Amino acid sequence: MHSSSKPRDDLQTPIQYIKGVGPKRARRFAERGVLTVADALFLLPRGYEDRRKVSTISTLADGEWASFTARVVDFGVRHISRSRRMFELLLDDETGKIRCRWFNFNPATFSKRFKRGEHVRVAGHVKAYRGSLGLVHPDIEKASSSSDTAGEDFGAIVPVYPEVEGVYSKVVRQIMRRVVKRFADKVDDCLPDEIRDKHGLPGVQRALEMVHFPGPDDDLEALERGQSDGHRRLVFEEFFLLQLGLAIRRARFKNDRGRPIEPADDLEDLARDLFGFELTGGQKRVLAEIIADMSAERPMNRLLQGDVGSGKTAVAILAAIAAARSGAQTALMAPTEILAEQHYRQVVKLLAPGVASKSVPRPAFLASSVKGAERRSVIDGVASGEMKLLVGTHALIEEQVEFDSLGLCIIDEQHRFGVLQRARLKDKGPAGPVPDVLVMTATPIPRTLSMTVYGDLDVSILDEMPPGRTPVRTVVLGGKEVRRAYEHVRREAGRGGRAYLVYPLVEESEKIELLDASRMFEKLREGAFASLRLGLLHGRMAAAEKEKVMTEFEAGRLDVLVSTTVIEVGVDVPAATVMVVEHAERFGLSQLHQLRGRVGRGERPGTCFLVAHSMSSQDARARLRVMERTNDGFHIAEEDLAIRGPGEFLGTRQSGLPAFAFGNLTRDSDILLAAREDAFGLIGDDPRLSKPEYRSLRRALEVRWGHKLALAEVG
Ligand code: ADP
Ligand code: MG
Repeated sequence: MHSSSKPRDDLQTPIQYIKGVGPKRARRFAERGVLTVADALFLLPRGYEDRRKVSTISTLADGEWASFTARVVDFGVRHISRSRRMFELLLDDETGKIRCRWFNFNPATFSKRFKRGEHVRVAGHVKAYRGSLGLVHPDIEKASSSSDTAGEDFGAIVPVYPEVEGVYSKVVRQIMRRVVKRFADKVDDCLPDEIRDKHGLPGVQRALEMVHFPGPDDDLEALERGQSDGHRRLVFEEFFLLQLGLAIRRARFKNDRGRPIEPADDLEDLARDLFGFELTGGQKRVLAEIIADMSAERPMNRLLQGDVGSGKTAVAILAAIAAARSGAQTALMAPTEILAEQHYRQVVKLLAPGVASKSVPRPAFLASSVKGAERRSVIDGVASGEMKLLVGTHALIEEQVEFDSLGLCIIDEQHRFGVLQRARLKDKGPAGPVPDVLVMTATPIPRTLSMTVYGDLDVSILDEMPPGRTPVRTVVLGGKEVRRAYEHVRREAGRGGRAYLVYPLVEESEKIELLDASRMFEKLREGAFASLRLGLLHGRMAAAEKEKVMTEFEAGRLDVLVSTTVIEVGVDVPAATVMVVEHAERFGLSQLHQLRGRVGRGERPGTCFLVAHSMSSQDARARLRVMERTNDGFHIAEEDLAIRGPGEFLGTRQSGLPAFAFGNLTRDSDILLAAREDAFGLIGDDPRLSKPEYRSLRRALEVRWGHKLALAEVG
């Protein structure tokens, strides 16, 4: 126990030791993630109150935020009902009288705050109550006279902090003021001067002061939007540190030794022979980018982005063929067993005409469902190097799978794995050359997001669809109109078409209000679809069972597949022409776009019904209408990102997306671009950040990235 009372003035000082905090409030701050003064400094206001204007009582208007000075006339506790009391304070000035009320107050101490005849400064929300204007729970401080209008929290733009439970907002503000006054100038400025000057950004110390306690002449609107100079400086720094880390990682990839393959220029012809179709212009372009990477000395680290059905798998297979010709093995990994199997089947189908010719690898499949002798034979074949193309799930990165000569890792829908797994898969080969990595995603990602999640990768975009596709027609329906969708399903089934009915995943606690796949399966089987053949697919079924249902659906022994979102990505059943998404209001736009990509993959055009059951808000409906208007996945992704924010957009916590404390990828995209350019420029000039003026920057990177960057290696 340190009983020394010597004040610590470094930034790691526990918040507890700040005057006015103490152990009890410190615990409350800790719940907010604030343990030290450094944490407090970076807990930014969530908004601001404009208390610059000083009003008089007679000018106060219902609904306005106001501040004024007044005299205490009277006060006391009043009973509202048998169990409820309030504290009432009557104030006046030369122009009139007004009441302030508190419904939460400590009766023992509250009256002691006031004395009749004394002056106070008041700030708060003016509201009509029982016919007259008043203020509820206003902020109050003592004033010396009726003309004493400027206090710390008055006559100024006043910060409003995120709520710290059990601590009055006024007290939080006082504490923050102490912290900022004493510690803001101790924060080390990590941004190099040249970069700060270039963008005219304030120093970090100044930025913190500006954001926490702005001056009366500062731009309130910019502050509110989080776009004041101070905010922009903090956002820039946050993005810059991220992008520097990505730049360093990328620079490191460039130092790795790869396993260059023989350049291949006959792949387009091969595709024609093997697949029976001509590659699209987009496919040719991205294939050339991929082959160029693969034949280079350095390993490939590339993201292939392309909308559902744009033909990524065909490109991936050609890359695997090129690798196999040079004796290298390919691992193709998908996020779920169903998807991995589908990939496998597609690979088998596409390669079938060529497998005899020896120029084409024979694919093998591995997932947790593959057991016993079959499993052993795959694992042995991979270890001996005889199996050149292995398709599977996470099982591929399990310990027991050892590749003989892993040359190419293709990861489909990588954002579901997270960046970590990407690193692990790369390590699966023997020591020596580093395999090429191709990440494929069918989720079009806005540029700002891909620069963040995939910022260390090169990007290829497949923005052209194979010919002969009719875009899916999308119809938004209200819950009462669902019959129209069911009707369409029956009509299509009559013509040999097939339908997906998709339900959201439902938490146990929500069951009463929401339709879910299992219950609707029972209901529809007896009701609307009594004449059709229905199958049920959901995540909790055993893999073998799922497989069986999918196979039956594909083979046409089922007309309707009732399912949860397990069918979301990659599933390819060309005869499926209808998709009905129930509770569409609960899905993100990008997810809906993915879902509807499951239909219209064959000759017949597809239709997608988005049924909104609990469409309470107008917004939700407007949001779904975007789906009717456009089929452009990138456009939808931008809208989705703006609506839901990046975390929700990517869907999972383990998405590899860093949490931003200050930055917002939609609002601050210009800052992100600038920060990225500067970061990559800096690392290009000085990959080790070895110049003495980058010392603080190196330290900040260490804090931001920790061991993940292994900066020690960099120097
Ligand atoms: P993605 O993986 O991008 O969703 P796929 O590779 O699964 O797309 O391709 C979708 C469908 O289009 C598959 O049935 C595939 O065989 C077919 N396809 C791919 N490329 C072409 C092309 N250039 N011309 C015609 N059909 C193609
Ligand atoms: Mg695919």
